[in-house]
Amino acid sequence: MTIPTDLEIARAATLLPIREIAARAGIPEEALEPYGRHKAKVSLDFVAARRAEGQSGKLVLVTGISPTAAGEGKTTTTIGLGDALNSLGARAMIALREPSLGPCFGVKGGATGGGHAQVVPMEEINLHFTGDFHAITSANNLLAAMVDNHLYWGNEQGLDARRVVWRRAVDMNDRALRSVTAALGGVANGFPREDGFDITVASEVMAVFCLSRDLAELQQRLGRIVVGYRRDGSAVTAHDLKADGAMAALLRDALAPNLVQTLAGSPALVHGGPFANIAHGCNSVIATRLALDLADVVVTEAGFGADLGAEKFLDIKCRQAGLSPSACVVVATVRALKMHGGVSKAALGTEDVAAVSRGTANLRRHVENMQKFGLPVVVALNRFTSDTAAEIGAVRDAMRALGVEAILCTHWSDGAEGAADLARAVQALIAGGTADFAPLYNDHLSLAGKIETVAREIYHAASVSIPPPVAAKLRRFEEAGFAHVPVCIAKTQYSFSADPALLGAPEGHVLPLREVRLSAGAGFVVAIAGEIMTMPGLPRRPAAEGIGLDAQGRIDGLF
Ligand code: ADP
Ligand code: MG
Repeated sequence: MTIPTDLEIARAATLLPIREIAARAGIPEEALEPYGRHKAKVSLDFVAARRAEGQSGKLVLVTGISPTAAGEGKTTTTIGLGDALNSLGARAMIALREPSLGPCFGVKGGATGGGHAQVVPMEEINLHFTGDFHAITSANNLLAAMVDNHLYWGNEQGLDARRVVWRRAVDMNDRALRSVTAALGGVANGFPREDGFDITVASEVMAVFCLSRDLAELQQRLGRIVVGYRRDGSAVTAHDLKADGAMAALLRDALAPNLVQTLAGSPALVHGGPFANIAHGCNSVIATRLALDLADVVVTEAGFGADLGAEKFLDIKCRQAGLSPSACVVVATVRALKMHGGVSKAALGTEDVAAVSRGTANLRRHVENMQKFGLPVVVALNRFTSDTAAEIGAVRDAMRALGVEAILCTHWSDGAEGAADLARAVQALIAGGTADFAPLYNDHLSLAGKIETVAREIYHAASVSIPPPVAAKLRRFEEAGFAHVPVCIAKTQYSFSADPALLGAPEGHVLPLREVRLSAGAGFVVAIAGEIMTMPGLPRRPAAEGIGLDAQGRIDGLF
């Protein structure tokens, strides 16, 4: 029997008209702005009206172990859990990020779940969707154009062309654009300077978009973006360049959350999409809050491992938006734990209980980290066909020792039914009411202190190495009034350390801080540790090589 691909399963599904999905979620047709028949934006007027009625739902965070080449399935589990909760009669909604074209055409593929736990229409969500990323990229690049234009027309603000920090953006893995020289070709083209591109999902505009509660806040945050510095070290902002209004205008329609459906007909909001390794890694505040206003339970995903996505979800998004999760699901697979236990990808098909046991060190640390935030945890063991009973037992035993349940899930192959046990466990955690969420560190800790706290408590690093120029920059940010903001640490997703080869649960390593950037609009300081790129590249054999159109003009090869 050949197993159908994610795309084949998605394509075979019969989708309901989006107004029916909206009705299930309690969204009236007048509040919908349909984009075709199966996608719609929910009007910001409706969002505000529901907000005024007060929050009702419980928030469940889905996160995972440190990712490996074996795949984990957080998005798949978020969707399966949402479907399972609905099938048990809870009114559940799902809140996810929008996919970026970088991973779609690179190594990872799309980001709409998999198997029988997907959001659809899969091709549309993965490729252009409702155009939000176009709007975000355009707002970013409008500001970039206005920076160079300001320099060209006399530079009233006294911006030092050598100290411009605003970069251009494109939603593509394109290493050729990491560092470029702009404005070549003579007097008519401006002042040549070094420039570069970030992938859109790493841009500050994406972060601002995802953290703003409404249009007014969006414009205020955009205005605070620092584009560069004057010779005296003072900052020039987007507001100084009078760019914030036009940027907000470009983003107005995009800020309305996108409604789609799962294969089982659950309502899902898919909105905003920052990466978790180089950005804060979760969907928009506006979508999460709308879902909480509409549903009894909201299941949301934070990207990559819990050291990155969940830490930022909790320390940045929940802190800024005043959200408080009721439970946390940590997704693991036997295959990935085996890799953390030292097995190579090629040998994953062979049973190796000892390696699974060794690998549970990684899972254990992520679970304990989530408990440090005051969250009750359940482990979702996402079943692959090659898993053996003894290997599954090894994970269960390791978790039992922590007093945490590990629940076998088969939503990828069986849909909602395969996550029913997980859904019941999550309901029990919510009903238990033991969540007592608090961010990891206080606002008043110094920026370096915040970075050190995350490194020590979450990564189990012995110390952080901060080169003197980086330390000086952190002090300058503090003097400029940004001492109170949280930190967004950019590091590899593959390890607790900054070395992607250190799997399992490394301890006593040194976190090498390379660079810090102020995201005054987003309201955090980005701290880049180790070799992490804000513009990824494509692999030798990009997924794009396998994507195309079939004889009927349908999209093929997307996964
Ligand atoms: P994450 O959100 O953790 O990055 P995804 O949910 O996007 O992971 O899943 C990544 C890929 O793994 C998808 O293509 C999905 O179809 C596949 N996958 C997930 N769970 C399973 C499973 N149990 N068996 C086989 N493939 C799976
Ligand atoms: Mg995912």
